[in-house]
Amino acid sequence: MDRREMLEALGFGAAGLLGLAGRRQDASAAEYARATKGLPPLKITDVRAILTAPQGIRLCVVKVETSEPGLYGLGCATFNQRPLTVVTAVNEYLRPFAKGRDAENIEDMWQNAYTSSYWRNGPVLNNALSGLDQALWDIKGKRANMPVYQLVGGKCRFAVDCYTHCGGGTLAQVEESVRRAMERGFRHIRIQRGGYGSPHLSKQADFKEAGFGAPVDSNMEVRPYVKGTLEMFEHIRHTCGDDVELLHDIHERIPPIEAINLVKRLEQYRPFFIEDPFSPEDIGYFKLLRQQTCVPIAMGELYNNPHEWVGLMSERLIDFIRVHISQIGGFSVARKIAALGEWFNVRSAWHGPGDVSPVGHAANAHLDLAIWNFGIQEAVSFNEKTREVFPGAPTIEKGYMHIHEAPGWGVDIDETLAAKFPLPEHPGYWEPVRRPDGTAVRP
Ligand code: MG
Repeated sequence: MDRREMLEALGFGAAGLLGLAGRRQDASAAEYARATKGLPPLKITDVRAILTAPQGIRLCVVKVETSEPGLYGLGCATFNQRPLTVVTAVNEYLRPFAKGRDAENIEDMWQNAYTSSYWRNGPVLNNALSGLDQALWDIKGKRANMPVYQLVGGKCRFAVDCYTHCGGGTLAQVEESVRRAMERGFRHIRIQRGGYGSPHLSKQADFKEAGFGAPVDSNMEVRPYVKGTLEMFEHIRHTCGDDVELLHDIHERIPPIEAINLVKRLEQYRPFFIEDPFSPEDIGYFKLLRQQTCVPIAMGELYNNPHEWVGLMSERLIDFIRVHISQIGGFSVARKIAALGEWFNVRSAWHGPGDVSPVGHAANAHLDLAIWNFGIQEAVSFNEKTREVFPGAPTIEKGYMHIHEAPGWGVDIDETLAAKFPLPEHPGYWEPVRRPDGTAVRP
């Protein structure tokens, strides 16, 4: 007896069974519509990457369109150093993967898109995935007619406290920069003496005289940077007072044991946090650092693999988790990191430089508003062109970031205007930094 004969013997026609499946689908669609006050199921109809550089920075935003006319979402996929690789990952791989799939089950989409390449956790694929993930959260917010922070629990604070960047080549210039930021209302200020690692304090590079490397390569010595940074903290505490919160980014520019020594010596100036003491390759040094000093540590903008942050957080080796949300795979991952941090009292300090799009800054801010263990947010200043390309970009007032209160992220993109700001000709490499003998320095 074949399958059809068996079904007929049991009193079901095969056509009858198919009809039953169809009726079940209709019934479940009707139940869904009742539960969602008349909304039909939502499918993804297109996924594409948009590049623009209104501030000279290579921004990448992913737009996801749906079966509901006019309903789309935006997500940040900005990888300033390799933007075209992200465009390929989105347009050539994520688009065919996501098209026709359900736009509503964000976690399910994330899990399956994540493993759709089999190999995973790299910056290109994570940024592409973030674009899709954040766009789906934007869509969910728009559909629910709520800002995304409402979907994840509502507000824990009225606005997002931020730190801003101050610096200068001389101590007087750093001081002047700090005073101006304090006048603008910032309570948290990151101070740097010149560029990362204070290369201007280093002597003439021997490698250049020897004709080693390229003329654009810069030179950075350990000792002048360490001495200059200690002098800067001493000067700013002396001239700007004890109340202002001071931050500093080592940017992994010195050997780990030198970083431990520097952080210990900075303890007397009560920094709010010291950022990125060690390269991702030197994670094992955090235990040694913790045994030597209680200076708060912020870490993580280069991380893209959960193994890089889970141990540091659960072993209480850092105080602020500072991942770049698009680089770890998006808002969905950042929410989980925040939840993990709550139980170890590791606070958030999401990476928020110029090479995060206004959509990405809004995603940072929505999460900052909704989580209990928010720490601080890196402030960004958009120029007028960026604000025109991205209507609804977050704003900063008296050191607080405010989102545009609207459904989803509250940020849109003017694609016609975006196309008027093509990427700069320079591909956007992170330029080499060397020791005097020419040895490459890792950021
Ligand atoms: Mg940094």
